[in-house]
Amino acid sequence: MSSFLHTKYQALEAYTPGEQPRDKQYIKLNTNESPYPPSQAVLTALGEEDIRDLRLYSDPEGKALKLALARLYGMGADQVFLSNGSDDILNFAFMAFGQDGAVFPDLTYSFYPVFADLHGVPYSTVPLHEDFTVDVPGLSGTGKLTVLANPNAPTGIALPLSEVEKIIASNPDHVVVIDEAYVDFGADSAAALVDRYPNLLVVMTYSKSRSMAGARLGFALGQPELIADLEKLKFSTNPYNVNRLTLKLGIAAVASDDYFRANAQRIMATRETTTNALRQMGFSIPDSQANFLFITHPQVDGAKLYQACKDKGVLIRHFSTPALAPYNRVTIGSEEEMAAFLSVVEEILAEEGV
Ligand SMILES: *Cc1c(COP(=O)(O)O)cnc(C)c1O
Repeated sequence: MSSFLHTKYQALEAYTPGEQPRDKQYIKLNTNESPYPPSQAVLTALGEEDIRDLRLYSDPEGKALKLALARLYGMGADQVFLSNGSDDILNFAFMAFGQDGAVFPDLTYSFYPVFADLHGVPYSTVPLHEDFTVDVPGLSGTGKLTVLANPNAPTGIALPLSEVEKIIASNPDHVVVIDEAYVDFGADSAAALVDRYPNLLVVMTYSKSRSMAGARLGFALGQPELIADLEKLKFSTNPYNVNRLTLKLGIAAVASDDYFRANAQRIMATRETTTNALRQMGFSIPDSQANFLFITHPQVDGAKLYQACKDKGVLIRHFSTPALAPYNRVTIGSEEEMAAFLSVVEEILAEEGV
């Protein structure tokens, strides 16, 4: 740290993203990326002309992509906000709506407390139930910015839409953010509630089900006034926050929505077979509605499993906080990748004498 950093940032603890190692080729099950490539329409969307046009700024309104997404989700273009990955939107949400503080579950996306600290938003957390489900009454009527990942991470558990609606309806004077990064893997989207709740912001991303994590594209759905607030912050920081190439790829992806839905179905089927196989080996796993599993084994230490997998060429995600130490989060890859992962885990259990 230099002596120049503003005192308000000196104690800030930055978010730690999952490893993106370059030392060797791993089976990479640690950052919830898709094992499948984007659709053919996305693969062929860009030509030399588009690279030439990089001399021009991107459309700061992102109008064509907003229209495409608005049509897909059955709303108006003024109900769509675009950003450089959905983390950007979460950042804006804490900046814009955190005046009275924020609240989120104690076990959830570990970026939320970082955004809160970054913007000086005081926050409290609500413990999950023993079975890792979200405490709906605990998150209701808090009079604060409320942030809920649904399905939640790293548990993979989804709340039914009727429960999500209770939280939104109970907090009419504050924004409720529903972070739907994993919604396409089997949960119900709160997008259907946007027209009824002016305080609802639904946040989605191209990074998981749409196989475009590297393109950095996220979007939010909400009533026009709420979207206008986010636009105000965006135009006060980086009006060209989504680049030309990504805007074009984003439109091509909307046109091939069926392809991405079919991939999500395939990942869900692989998730079920993987869950069953791991449970047979003695792992406990909550039922996941996401593209990852939250696993623990009564006889194998979490950190040890992580390291042994890594040594055998499979990367999974371990969290070192004491409460999470017995667990690992495992992304659902292709059928072949999961078969390889399962045989590595079998080997490790055998070595541990389980
Ligand atoms: C992956 C993820 C995001 C956002 O990722 P982006 O790549 O920035 O769109 C947001 N929330 C949760 C819970 C996630 O897991």
